[in-house]
Amino acid sequence: MLTDYHTHTPLCRHAQGAPEQYARRARDLGLAEVGFADHNPMPSAFDDWRMDLSELPRYVDWVAEAREVVAPLPVRISLECDFLEGREGWLHETAELVEWDYLIGSVHYLTEDWALDDPRHLSRWTGQGTVEEIWARYWSLYEKCVRTGCFDFCAHPDLAKKFGFRPAGDLRPYYEPVISALAGTGTAVEINTAGLHKEVREMYPAPDFLRMAREAGVAVVINSDAHAPEEVGRDFAAALELARSVGYRETLRFCKRRREVVPLPETWPLPL
Ligand SMILES: [Zn+2]
Ligand SMILES: [Zn+2]
Repeated sequence: MLTDYHTHTPLCRHAQGAPEQYARRARDLGLAEVGFADHNPMPSAFDDWRMDLSELPRYVDWVAEAREVVAPLPVRISLECDFLEGREGWLHETAELVEWDYLIGSVHYLTEDWALDDPRHLSRWTGQGTVEEIWARYWSLYEKCVRTGCFDFCAHPDLAKKFGFRPAGDLRPYYEPVISALAGTGTAVEINTAGLHKEVREMYPAPDFLRMAREAGVAVVINSDAHAPEEVGRDFAAALELARSVGYRETLRFCKRRREVVPLPETWPLPL
């Protein structure tokens, strides 16, 4: 059975649908568990796509309400935490705010005023040598994110390809330090199906990345990054096929920051 551990709520101001609707969708699809991982609040105003710190109790309550509606389906609580260089202390504080089931690390920000997946900043991608520079900066931040050791798994590993901008040639040298960091810290990585619906039209990460992760013994989870209830579990058949094609036969479950290794199903959806 599969799980979906990367879903959002309207508290991030760019998702629709109550958590209860996401949870019902997960139950209807036959997922074993669903987890909410909305964007982490910051200690003070930061951007326009995350909950305020004052809204955190509402988040916890909202997830608890969803849990009641779909019981006994396990509904986990988490945050998708932005790695920002120099603000690592806040990540450690965040880990203590709530009894999280797991925490996700993400790199969206190249600098504090530039989220690389934000279409409002698309013009920053053009110019000679720019794509290589952005990729180098992105992957170096991703490695630092992993090396904080704060996270149970890290999200959308090659998010930098979202708009289709990629250096030419072999991309594996960008991946290598991150794979070593994942393996060295025991951090898992996700297959995130949302990329199929972005300009790049591919899941995150690319098959080469996933193959290298598998060879290095990095664990994998399959997630949708749903921002609407109907996106829960989206394209999981393709994600499972990708995972199995590079040799994965197991995935992880999380509860109160403990992990359990479970087998991946052979096919999805499961036959009735
Ligand atoms: Zn993200
Ligand atoms: Zn997300």
